[in-house]
Parts: sequence; C-alpha cells; structure tokens
Amino acid sequence: MEIKANTQLCIGAGMCALTVPQVFDQSDDEGLVVLLEPNPSADLEEAVRRAVNLCPSGAISVD
Ligand code: SF4
Repeated sequence: MEIKANTQLCIGAGMCALTVPQVFDQSDDEGLVVLLEPNPSADLEEAVRRAVNLCPSGAISVD
C-alpha cells in the first residue's frame, strides 16, 4: 500500500490524524496533512482505508 496526500486539497479537518496517528499528522501552522509513513505496515491498512473514506476533501488516496 502506498499512500498519497495532497495538501492542495486538504482543508485541515484532521480526521486522518485522529484515525491513524501513526501515519498522518497535521502541520502546526495551517493544520494541513503531513504524511508520516507513506508505506505503512499491513496491520494499519484497514485504518488507513477508513481515514481515506472519512477525509471530507478527498485529499488522501491509496494505491
Ligand atoms: S482528513 Fe483530509 S482534509 Fe482532514 S487533515 Fe486529513 S487529509 Fe486534510
């Protein structure tokens, strides 16, 4: 699984960081998504897919 995060689309809602804090964070200034781990371990896959579905702006995707 490879994750992509688009800061142009992110609106800083924070659902990703709340759902999988091992993978997503938010920048201190604008609150935009920061990708901590683009290739997370398989045990995080389900949580990452949940985060993708929860993101209100479609800013994160997985291959
Ligand atoms: S859930 Fe989506 S909009 Fe919210 S911080 Fe994460 S990537 Fe950005």
